[in-house]
Amino acid sequence: MSNLFNCGHCGRFMSYDEHDEYTNFGSYGDLEPPDPIYVCAKCAAIEKASIIKSGNFMLPYLPSRYMMEAIEELGLVEAGPHRDGPSFLYKKDEVPEGYVLRKRSVYVP
Ligand SMILES: [Zn+2]
Repeated sequence: MSNLFNCGHCGRFMSYDEHDEYTNFGSYGDLEPPDPIYVCAKCAAIEKASIIKSGNFMLPYLPSRYMMEAIEELGLVEAGPHRDGPSFLYKKDEVPEGYVLRKRSVYVP
């Protein structure tokens, strides 16, 4: 859990304008989604480079801007068997037949 103006990765204080955020999946016992994790610009750049280097990624419940930028630069798209429900990242030309592309709107504060 992180304070609004603390980076959840390095702990550094940051301005509201600088922050990016993501929210992980909760678990079955949770009544509400977990609190978002705030990320400073420096850590977001490091994380984005790490995703691009690894070549693949599992999206959290609510991805951050840097995550969506990274998967776009990798040429990955999000798709699943239904409009709602589970979805996974695929290369644009490797989406399984019948899968529906999911377009997320990323919350940009
Ligand atoms: Zn940080």
